[in-house]
Amino acid sequence: MTLHARPYTLQLKHPFTLATGSRRSTPCVLVEINALGVTGVGEASMPPYCGETIDSALAFLERAAHHLPPDPETALREGLSALAPILAEIDRIAPGNHAAKAAVDIALHDWLGRLLGAPCHALLGIPRGPVLPTSFTIGIAGREETAERVAEAAEFPILKVKLGGRDDCAIIEAVRSVTERPVRVDANQGWGEREEAARLVEWLAGQGVELVEQPFSPERFADTAWLRERSPIPLVGDESVRRLSDMAAAADAFDGVNIKLMKCTGMHEAHRMFREAQRLGLRTMLGCMTETSCGIGAALQLAPLAEWIDLDGSLLISNDPFTGVTFVNGRPMMPEGPGIGVSPLSQERRQQPDL
Ligand code: MG
Repeated sequence: MTLHARPYTLQLKHPFTLATGSRRSTPCVLVEINALGVTGVGEASMPPYCGETIDSALAFLERAAHHLPPDPETALREGLSALAPILAEIDRIAPGNHAAKAAVDIALHDWLGRLLGAPCHALLGIPRGPVLPTSFTIGIAGREETAERVAEAAEFPILKVKLGGRDDCAIIEAVRSVTERPVRVDANQGWGEREEAARLVEWLAGQGVELVEQPFSPERFADTAWLRERSPIPLVGDESVRRLSDMAAAADAFDGVNIKLMKCTGMHEAHRMFREAQRLGLRTMLGCMTETSCGIGAALQLAPLAEWIDLDGSLLISNDPFTGVTFVNGRPMMPEGPGIGVSPLSQERRQQPDL
């Protein structure tokens, strides 16, 4: 089994501003795993605030290449259960490196699905089921630009509006001046004093906001629990809940969790997080970073399990090097075909050159 990794910079259609900073591109590493004449694809998408870089991912992947299934024929016989010990071993190589680990996880799942001629959701025992509409992200911007972005997103029935600055009310007023669509708010850890947050969440609920994601910095569980007592709408943990091991603490503070492949090391652990959420009584969002259709296609395999879908990452970039993920009236379609159901665009058809 061989692993090939190459850097690829995701170009964002619009500068993307969150409470944590602004950027025009996202570093990414694309991975191919090949054995028995079959290739699986994966990706590590690494927004700078998550701490991984192209160099750290390439270094990790070089080490991970030595831990791939020594006998790919075993995977052919045993199916998905053959991957779990391999992924556990790769997880133990080094702490962190969540996106790099996800790239290997996705590529292995895709490879196995292609080898067996089955979509990953079927291998995972997840019924195909329709996927709910995704929210579409509106980054932090001025009043006019916010209204423009909302108009551009006319196809999408739900908006996810980034807040967490001084102008939160003005942003929501700008959105509400042009649309009555349901809005979800992501504060990206940007809120400070908790009494102020309680007043804001009350006001947001009155503006037809459905939920608030990550109001405070990740370690402020006690303040989040305090706010939950007072909030008329659900609070969803994102930066506070990266992996399965974070979920028990999250259940004491949040109503729901945002599960993302790039945070939790991939499809295997994400699937376990959905089961754990059910056990803990946590509601679930399936989210993403700015990613190619590879990461989105992989996440979609789990989409029938989620109550809220936030899988617009591939729509925010201008140089998606994969096809296979489509949206109809804001609803992502479960990709057709084996594995994660996406195909690399040929070199000539790419809109942008590689790094
Ligand atoms: Mg978030």
